[in-house]
Parts: sequence; structure tokens; C-alpha cells
Amino acid sequence: MRMQLKRRPSAREEGRIRARAAEVEEALRLTREGRCYACGEHVEAALAELGSPLCHDCRCSARQLS
Ligand SMILES: [Zn+2]
Repeated sequence: MRMQLKRRPSAREEGRIRARAAEVEEALRLTREGRCYACGEHVEAALAELGSPLCHDCRCSARQLS
């Protein structure tokens, strides 16, 4: 069995990982503020109580897409 060498991520990979982390952080921030992470609009209280990170409009369009 060949051992896989653990290599350090390249600067480019690191930048991508950081950008991804920033995206996740931004989405979490919006959700905490009761805002839709897709469009930034206010999430209706009833949906926010259910833990929905999406507003009514985005939930509807997400359903249509899938
Ligand atoms: Zn939305």
C-alpha cells in the first residue's frame, strides 16, 4: 500500500478555501439576522422560527428548480 504524502495546500487552493469560508460566514451572518442567504431579504418570522435560511420567494423558486 502506498502512503499518500500530505502536502501543504498551494496558495491558490488556500485562497479558494478562504473564499469559501467567507461565503459560509456571510450566509451564517444573514441567517442570524433573520435574512435570506440567497437574496438578503427579510425572512418571514414563521419561516425563521422553522429554521429556514431562505425567504418565502427563494423557497418557492428553489422548489421549482428541483
Ligand atoms: Zn430570498
